[in-house]
This record gives sequence, C-alpha cells and structure tokens, in this order.
Amino acid sequence: MPEEVAAGIFRIEVPLPETPLKMLNAYLVRGERRHLLVDSGFNRRECREALFAGLEVLGARPGEFDLFITHMHADHSGLAADLAAAPGTVVYAGKEDGESINKLCDGEAFRRLLLNDAARHGCAAELLRALETKHPGIQYGPSGKIAFTAVDEGDMLVYGESRLQVLLMPGHTPGHMVLFDAQRGILIAGDLILGDITPNISRRRELPDSLGAYLDSLDKAQKLGATLTLPGHRGLIRDTAKRIGELRAHHARRLAEVLSLLEGRSATAGELAPEMTWSIRGAVWADFPVPQKWFAINEALAHLDHLAALGIVVREESGDRTRFRPSGKVAGLN
Ligand SMILES: [Zn+2]
Repeated sequence: MPEEVAAGIFRIEVPLPETPLKMLNAYLVRGERRHLLVDSGFNRRECREALFAGLEVLGARPGEFDLFITHMHADHSGLAADLAAAPGTVVYAGKEDGESINKLCDGEAFRRLLLNDAARHGCAAELLRALETKHPGIQYGPSGKIAFTAVDEGDMLVYGESRLQVLLMPGHTPGHMVLFDAQRGILIAGDLILGDITPNISRRRELPDSLGAYLDSLDKAQKLGATLTLPGHRGLIRDTAKRIGELRAHHARRLAEVLSLLEGRSATAGELAPEMTWSIRGAVWADFPVPQKWFAINEALAHLDHLAALGIVVREESGDRTRFRPSGKVAGLN
C-alpha cells in the first residue's frame, strides 16, 4: 500500500526478487493536473504488478504522470519503456544515463561492453558466461528505446507543492540525478544515499575514478542540508548528515582494506574481490550469486581506481590483464 512520506509525495514499494536490495522505492509526486513518478522497478511481472497496483490506489493512471529516472540501472529504469507508451508521458533522465539506457537495451552491445573490460580485470571466464544471461541489466532492462527528455543540473520540475531542483550526482553511475526540494529540505536521492546498505560503486568506462566522483557527490549532498532523504531502496533517512558520514567512513575502511590486501604483491580486481569482506547473507565467495560477484569485482576496481588516482597504487598493464600494486606513497584515506 502506498505511503505518504511527505505532503504530496507517496512511496510505492516495488519488490526486486532475487536481489539483496529486496525492494525499490518508487515515489509519486502529486501535481495538480499531472504527477511525477520517480523510478520504476525491473521490467518483470512482479514489479509491474506492484507498481501499477500502487499507482491505481493513488488514482494516477498512465498518461496522467511523467517519469523521472534517477539513473540507468534496470531496477530503476526497467519499466520506463512501458510507462512511456502512454500518450503525453514525458520521461526525464540525465543525458548520460539516458543515452546509456538506450545503447544497452541492445543486448548485444551490453554483452560486448561486459566482455571487453571484465576479462582484463580478472573476471573468470565462467563468471562472464553466466553474466551474459544473469546480469539484471540484460534480464530486466527496458523493453525498447525511450525518447528521453534530458535534464541537467539546476533544472526545476514543479509538481503541486514540490519544487524539485535537478542535481547531477555522479559516482554510482556517471549521470546519476537527484531531485531536491530546497524549500522543504527533501532529497529524492536515487542510489546516492541509502539507509542500511551502501550503494554499489562500480568502475565505469566513462568515469575513470567513479569512487572519487561519488565522494565528491556526497560532499555536494552534505551541503544541501536535507532534513528528509527519500532513498531508492530501504527506509527513509532523517539524519542525512550522519548517514553521509557513515558512507564516507565505509569507503575509507574499504580503501584501507584493499591497500592492505595488496601489500607486497600485485593483483587484479578479480583476484582481490574474493578476499575482501562483504556483507552478503550466508556468504562465502563461491556461493555469491553471479551478479553479486560481478558487482563485488567492480566495487574492488572502483576502490583500486581511486587509490590509483591518489597515487597510492599504480596500474600495471601487462598482456591481457590490468594489475595494481602499492606505489609506496602513504596518504590519508579519508
Ligand atoms: Zn543503482
């Protein structure tokens, strides 16, 4: 059942079966004539049913609301093509992530992108093969291309009493956008800030130091002084400043862990990831679901890239592998 989380803003919980995220929070921002739906869920039956049931309870029929996609991931964008089919629906997204969604809805392009980089970083061949069918972006992405209306930093979307400023917050993805209602201190955060889980920070070709960009985005979010953060997953966040501090501390610990695992050797991200500590239930590395192994290797890589950007590790490109080793430079990690 949808829940009013702030005046005129309703949360619809959309189940995400077989993922540690469990649920997506879609938000319906009520307007006078048209409403705005933020994010959608995977392109799969369970998500479609829950989303449409919630919209029906709220009296928002297809064609009466626009859509805002915070970022390209399939759990946020999966149903965008279906929703966009209703006449008059405007679908907003940041330029970069909107373009990526359309590029990758061609499954072959997605596979090529995966295969290109992953093998270099020590992703095992059998994991790559499994990913080709089990990656959520391939399984549950939008059913077709979408005619996005690109939004940019500083754009304003007004629906009812919500005056929503669009802000670019790269890191989780290159074109991740959030919406901030400055008058009311409400931040609709996508996967920038989550409550009891940490957003995955992955290597992205378009963003050479994605963790560095993410930490900069957290600084930018801190300055907004939000009093209520509406995240893409899990519970609402009342103390945004405290949560941002915890996320920063998490990544500082992770950077230190990656550096200590590299002591006296060089390694690929694929070799390091199984040695890192992960909080996946019941989990030894061998039992991780295929997508989680992939996200873990990418997260290791994002931390290695950031250490390389700080000059603390160096990359060694040899043959068909990229390895990292400590440079000997010592620097603070927070
Ligand atoms: Zn995401």
